Amino acid sequence: MHPQLEILLELQDLKAQQRELAEATADTSHEIERKVFRVKPEDAAAQLQSKIEEMESVLAPDVADRYRIISRRRNRAVAPVLNGICYGCFMTVPTGVPPSNDEIRWCEHCGSFLYFVD
Ligand SMILES: [Zn+2]
Repeated sequence: MHPQLEILLELQDLKAQQRELAEATADTSHEIERKVFRVKPEDAAAQLQSKIEEMESVLAPDVADRYRIISRRRNRAVAPVLNGICYGCFMTVPTGVPPSNDEIRWCEHCGSFLYFVD
């Protein structure tokens, strides 16, 4: 896999974690669970944020630009491709695009980075 694609996938995971954490802390019914957290939710949020920033800083400039644009529009910057369909927009990925994760590719319809699953 292309190392930048790996970073993008990890970033996506960290951001999903960040959203889940924000939801969990907003929901007061989790009060009891929160007491057994090993880290305070605010500390966890800060750590996630600093890790996200650290990883964003190692993205190549052209990848980082696209990543920033997509991240503003959608939660997921990387869309899985299954059976030739981009799951970011459910449009067909042109057959001219070889299904390989060794290069950074993106969907020409929705702009998402593509991650070929099959
Ligand atoms: Zn797409």
